Amino acid sequence: MATLSLRGLTRRFPSAERPALAGLDLDVDDGELLVLVGPSGCGKSTALRLIAGLDSPDGGTVSIGGRDVSRVAPEDRDVAMVFQGYALYPHMTARDIMGFPLRMRGVAREERARRVEEAAALLAIGHLLERRPGELSGGERQRVAMGRAIVRAPAAFLFDEPLSNLDAALRAELRVELAALVRRLGTTSVYVTHDQVEAMTMGDRIAVLRAGELQQVGPPRAIYEAPANTFVAGFLGTPAINLLPLERSGERYVGAALSLPAPPGVALPDRAIAGVRPEHLRVAPGRGSHGDAGAQGEVEVEARVVVAEPLGAETFLYLDAGGTRLRARAHGFATPAPGEAVRARLDPRDVLWFDAGSGARIA
Ligand code: ATP
Repeated sequence: MATLSLRGLTRRFPSAERPALAGLDLDVDDGELLVLVGPSGCGKSTALRLIAGLDSPDGGTVSIGGRDVSRVAPEDRDVAMVFQGYALYPHMTARDIMGFPLRMRGVAREERARRVEEAAALLAIGHLLERRPGELSGGERQRVAMGRAIVRAPAAFLFDEPLSNLDAALRAELRVELAALVRRLGTTSVYVTHDQVEAMTMGDRIAVLRAGELQQVGPPRAIYEAPANTFVAGFLGTPAINLLPLERSGERYVGAALSLPAPPGVALPDRAIAGVRPEHLRVAPGRGSHGDAGAQGEVEVEARVVVAEPLGAETFLYLDAGGTRLRARAHGFATPAPGEAVRARLDPRDVLWFDAGSGARIA
């Protein structure tokens, strides 16, 4: 069992303009599953490779269980990495593949057999142990790859997009299994993904990275409900949050699509960005009254449906409100058709407020 600490971790590739990782500070608690998430090129894989020792930092340290391992060879860091894809030896059986890391470490045959059986039982692949990778499905191969990591009982698991080559249904199934397995084993884990759904559903905490810089760390719900800035707000949530530039006009903030009362008790700049989650826009057919609607101080926006994407349980609606695009979510199929006039209602208390200049959240 171990904690993992990164301090000022920096990596500059000679050919690049900006550092791939610019002074990353991050602590992963003992037994915690931390998801490192961000768009392509933000430095996630670089961070993981530095933790594993597959690459050397230009600055900063990596500590595992309180020991500075920055200069320790990968094989002596006591971490197991699970990659995307399946780097499984084609000529070996699943049993041999899983036992291989133990053999390399000189673990005796009986002990090896016992630990492989144990891991296979945990992963429900006991019946597949005599097969070779070519005789396994994508999901089964990924379980074998996972098995190879867990037989070693390492201090930490490092996952680099392990599910990205699988189809959507299998990915959804395996992410639940994998998170449950890691929790059962209680092994400190860093899980890298660009998939915000994996981040939201799997992580005890999420660390959001952008262009080599950490934006925010916290439990998934806290990050979703209180994002540090417009980037984090825009990265988590499907469809993406509406970010609407508004300008102060007396006691209100006014934009092209809507006008909102200034939030009580906070000093906002003259130019602000209102963040409106699609699920907070309640869409109903027909035209409505302008401005505030209802006794609860709800705000109403007139719009027209541009695109409706029915997903079954819900429909994503893309609206046009006087030239401003709005994304909304509605339950089930019972939604207006493209071209139809609608009203979108919003409770101003659901709005997130950001500084228009820095993008930082202010309310
Ligand atoms: P993805 O999700 O696409 O894998 P990532 O977040 O894992 O992206 P990294 O692979 O860590 O991103 O890359 C971070 C940045 O460093 C990118 O701009 C990338 O082009 C650059 N980079 C990575 N490896 C090298 C290298 N060996 N030489 C030069 N630049 C590199």
